[in-house]
Amino acid sequence: MSKSWTVGVDFGATNIKVGAVSDDFKVLKEIVLSSRRYPTPEAFVEALKDAVSVLSSELLLSRSSLRGLGAGIPGLTDSKHGITHILVNMPAEWHGFALRKFMEKKLGLMCEIDNDVNVVALGEWKLGAGSNTNDSLYITLGTGVGGAVVANGRLVRGAAGVAGELGHMIIKPDGPVCGCGNRGCLEALIGTTAIIRKARAAIRRKKTIMARLAATKGSLTPALVSLAAGAGDASAKKIWAELGADLGLALSSLVNVLNPEKIVIGGGISGAWRYFAPAMMAILKKIPFKVSSGSCTVLRAKLGDKAGILGGALLIREKSCRI
Ligand SMILES: [Zn+2]
Repeated sequence: MSKSWTVGVDFGATNIKVGAVSDDFKVLKEIVLSSRRYPTPEAFVEALKDAVSVLSSELLLSRSSLRGLGAGIPGLTDSKHGITHILVNMPAEWHGFALRKFMEKKLGLMCEIDNDVNVVALGEWKLGAGSNTNDSLYITLGTGVGGAVVANGRLVRGAAGVAGELGHMIIKPDGPVCGCGNRGCLEALIGTTAIIRKARAAIRRKKTIMARLAATKGSLTPALVSLAAGAGDASAKKIWAELGADLGLALSSLVNVLNPEKIVIGGGISGAWRYFAPAMMAILKKIPFKVSSGSCTVLRAKLGDKAGILGGALLIREKSCRI
């Protein structure tokens, strides 16, 4: 009899990663599919079925020893009822779709779905930087700013199952308009779009190192703003300092509200840690109650691009985490 295994699925904007995970949480093999090739839930599940068969035959692991499949879905997802609500980057077929039930029927497996950030947070919480703490906070920085909260040893899901939208906390009521329609959300202040907007304005004002780099590379990205900051560009350094201050402000309120032991920061923008962390930490030292900030450590995420697959596998392995 072969060893038992689990499948974790990380459904991103560009790629769908399907990974076989061993009982001791090693990613044994992963298959990468293009998200654009599977626009409907039916096509997505069909692709998962094929990927599971390939993993099973290539790893010589039997289907009967497969515990189940857990998937992180990019958008508002009701994990309790297994329904996908709004997936902003996917067609209307996904809205209000009973995905879990459909997956279980087509794959003949126990399946679980959850919001992608919750799944990444679950991975980091149990296997990464969160080190299984009872009270912690996860925030991902990128085009979107997502989050998840662990309180009293459980992932907080909320009454409608959509809790943890840390990116939509309003930090500046007169700030820029957010994708959600409100003004001054954290995401509108520190997401990729905001970084690029600030960089573009800085370049227009002054011909700096950042302007020269942008002209050479032909595009303006957060990575380029980091490069410019590393080369001593004052306007690029200011963009990261402002990002750190806004993030620090948002986290300060959360520290007072939730008193987390750990705050784990991941996502592409966290690569600029050395440029924004000093401003963030200065605010975190200054604003929250000392008793709260003194018991809180801020860390970078550890699992990198494996967090989604491992978190997906954990959805199956730790069903008890569900409220
Ligand atoms: Zn918003």
